[in-house]
Amino acid sequence: MNSEWSPAARVRGMGASVFTEMTELARETGAVNLGQGVPELAAPESLLKDVAAAVLGGANQYPPAVGFPALREAVAAHQARRYGLEYDPRDEVLVTTGATEAIAAALLALCDPGDEVLAFDPCYDAYPAVARFAGATLVPVPLALDGDAFALDVAALRAAITPRTRVLVLNTPHNPTGKVFTAAELAAVAEVCREHGLTVVTDEVYEHLVYDGRHRSIAALPGMRERTLTLSSAGKTFNVTGWKVGWVCGPAELVAAVGAAKQFLTYASGTPYQEALARMLGGVEAWAEELRSTLRRNRDILSEGLTRAGLRPFRAEAGYFVQADVRAWGYPDGVRFCRELPLRAGVVAIPTSAFYLRPDAPSSLVRFSFCKREESVRTAVEKLIQAI
Ligand SMILES: *Cc1c(COP(=O)(O)O)cnc(C)c1O
Repeated sequence: MNSEWSPAARVRGMGASVFTEMTELARETGAVNLGQGVPELAAPESLLKDVAAAVLGGANQYPPAVGFPALREAVAAHQARRYGLEYDPRDEVLVTTGATEAIAAALLALCDPGDEVLAFDPCYDAYPAVARFAGATLVPVPLALDGDAFALDVAALRAAITPRTRVLVLNTPHNPTGKVFTAAELAAVAEVCREHGLTVVTDEVYEHLVYDGRHRSIAALPGMRERTLTLSSAGKTFNVTGWKVGWVCGPAELVAAVGAAKQFLTYASGTPYQEALARMLGGVEAWAEELRSTLRRNRDILSEGLTRAGLRPFRAEAGYFVQADVRAWGYPDGVRFCRELPLRAGVVAIPTSAFYLRPDAPSSLVRFSFCKREESVRTAVEKLIQAI
C-alpha cells in the first residue's frame, strides 16, 4: 500500500455500491435479478443490422465532436414532432456519450464551486456525483409520498432555494419511482424556476416508456425553452444501454457551454451507432408502441404479484421500476430485505435508500425492475409469493 496516496475528495466514499453488491449476490445465488435496470429485451433488428453495416462499411473513426449532422437533424425533428419544440440542428443539438455524459457536461458547464443544484429526492445516483465533481452541492427536494404515488411538494421546492441555487435537475419519467410529472406539477416547477432564474436540466431518457398518461417536456412551457437543457438517449428507448449515445437540446449558448465541457470528457464517441440511430429515430413511434405494450404487461404482472406477495407496490406510470414497501414482511429496512431476499426467495432487488439523499428519507422502500423477459418477471413473482 502506498501510504503517500489517497483518493481525491471528489471520489472519496464512491467505492463499490449496493448495485455491485446486489449484482454479485444474484450471480452467487442464481436468484432472478430484478435489481439493475438492464433490459433483457431485444433491440430493433434493423437497428442492429445498420450498426453492423456501418462498422463493416468503415464508420469507425471520430465523428464530429457535436455529433453526426444526420443524428442531430433526427433529434431536432423528434423534438419538433413530439413536443412542438424547434431546435436548430446546427447549434442547438449536441450528441453525447449517453445521457450520463450529458448530465456531467451540463453540470460542469453550469455550476461553479459552492453552487447548489436541486433535484427531487430520491434521484438517479449520477446527479449528486457529478454535482460534486463540479464542486457544487446537490440539495435534495423531497418527493412526497401520497397514497400509492410520489408527488411534487411545491413548498419543499421553494424552501430548498437559496441565493446559491443555480440549477434544477428534473427527471420525468422518474427513476427510481416510475413517476410521471403531471401538467400541473410541471407548471408549478416551471413557475419556481422562472421566478428564481434557475436553469433546468431535464433528464427524459424514459420519454417513450410511459404506460399511463403521457410524457410532457418542461421546455415546452412558457418561458422555459430559453432556460432548459433537455437530455435523452437511445439506451432505454431501443434496449441498447451498452451503446451510450445520448443528446442534449437547448438554446445555442447553453448547448455551446455543454459542448465545451463535453469535448474534454470524451470529445466524441459511437460513430457507427450514431449513423444507425439517425435512421431509427425517425421511426421511433411504431417501435416504442410495441415496446410499451411489452413493458406495460411486465409492469402489471410485477405489480399484481407484489400485491399478492403482501408487499405494497406503488403506482409505476412509466420507466423500468416498481417501488414496494417491505414493512409488511416485517422489515423496517430495505437494505436488510434486499440482502436476505436472494436466499429467502431467490429474487434480487435494490433498496431505494441507494437513491435517497436526505437523512430522514423512508427506509422501507425497495425497487424491482421489470425491463426483463416476461418469463423472468413471472418467475420472480412466483418465488416471492412462495416465500411469504
Ligand atoms: C439509465 C439512465 C440514464 C443513463 O443514460 P445513458 O444514456 O445510458 O447514459 C440517465 N438518467 C436516468 C434517469 C436513467 O435511468
